[in-house]
Parts: sequence; C-alpha cells; structure tokens
Amino acid sequence: MEDRAEVVFLEPDYDVTGKIRALSGISPELCYQCRKCTSGCPLTFAMDYYPDQIVRYLLLGLEEKVLSSATVWVCSACETCTTRCPNEIDIAGLMDYLKQQAHARGLVRPKENLSYAFHKAFLDDIGRRGRVFETGLLQRYMLSSGAWKAKLSDGTLWEEIRLGLALFRRGRLPLRPRGIRDTHELRRLFEKAPVSSENTTQSSAS
Ligand code: SF4
Ligand code: SF4
Repeated sequence: MEDRAEVVFLEPDYDVTGKIRALSGISPELCYQCRKCTSGCPLTFAMDYYPDQIVRYLLLGLEEKVLSSATVWVCSACETCTTRCPNEIDIAGLMDYLKQQAHARGLVRPKENLSYAFHKAFLDDIGRRGRVFETGLLQRYMLSSGAWKAKLSDGTLWEEIRLGLALFRRGRLPLRPRGIRDTHELRRLFEKAPVSSENTTQSSAS
C-alpha cells in the first residue's frame, strides 16, 4: 500500500504577528518572502530555520516552533538582515524579541544553554551599568553555564587563560568595570521592554 504523508494546510494567523507588533513595534506581516535577509545572513550554516522561514512561520502562527528553534540563539544580532530588508522589517530586533519570549515561556532547548547563558550574562551587565565589563562577563558566563568544566576536561581552559593574560597585558581586559552616567534612564528602558533584564537575571538563577 502506498505510504502518503499527511498534508496540513496552514492559514495566516495575525494574532501572533499582532502581538509582536504591539510588544516590539516590528511588523513581520509586511514580509513578501524575497529572502534577501537569508541570503545576506553570515550564520545560516548553523541555523535550523533561515531568517525568512522564521518570519514565515510566525505569519502562519507557528510561534512555539520558532521559539524552540536554534536560529533564535545562533543569531548574533549583526543586523545585516535588517539593513537588507526592502520592507524595513527589523529582523535582528525580532530575533531579540524572540529570545526574550523563549526565555519567558521556558522554551529554550537545553542544546542552546551556552548561547542562552551568554545572552543573560551580557544583558545583566548592560542592565546594571550600560556597558559590558568583559572580565566579569566571562567569569559569570563560565560559572553560570558550566562551560568551564568542558573546557577543563578538553584542555582548552588553559589556552583561554593564556589568551586572557595576553589580553590583560595589552590592556584589553580591564580589572574595574566602567558604567554610563545615567543608569536611571537605562532602568526605565529595561522596564519598558516586554521582558525586563531583571526577569532574565532572576530566571538564570533558578
Ligand atoms: S528581506 Fe524582509 S521581505 Fe524579504 S524575506 Fe526577509 S523579512 Fe521578508
Ligand atoms: S542579525 Fe541574525 S539573522 Fe540577521 S543577518 Fe545577522 S545573524 Fe543573521
């Protein structure tokens, strides 16, 4: 007997895109699938879905599929896609929004834990002082993600320590953090965000 795959017909679902627009100001429904975003993205080799597919899935209401994807965490926010989009869709901003939503809804896959831990350590730094303090960021990332254990067992930890010392000797790794003057304004920005850095930090501790 012939084995036929089940065909599922999907309709556009504007509830998902409406929510995205309300919370982030980004309008994925303007996409006409030209794929210019994907053809410029330098990280598609590591993604499970391409940027244009992420936008398409959101238009079809497949939000959980997108939130549990690797793509959201692979994206480095380089903004090439945003610059190339003829419809001015801020895809890099959309990826950032999706990171926050994936975290808030507990949909980050365990495989993405390292990227997730780095993202949280980075946001925590920015939320605290408005600037990244690389030395502290590295320490927090290593400890919170457990990445140091894997690096210790495969010997790469010592290479990284040597590299860190070389950077320190050249004055590239400061020992004291520096922040911006107006942290009040910064806190206000984080409070306005759909998911604040405070929530992000709290969850990282749990
Ligand atoms: S570049 Fe813009 S319009 Fe083209 S596929 Fe990507 S998001 Fe859609
Ligand atoms: S911002 Fe992310 S999705 Fe866009 S081009 Fe850069 S890595 Fe790719």
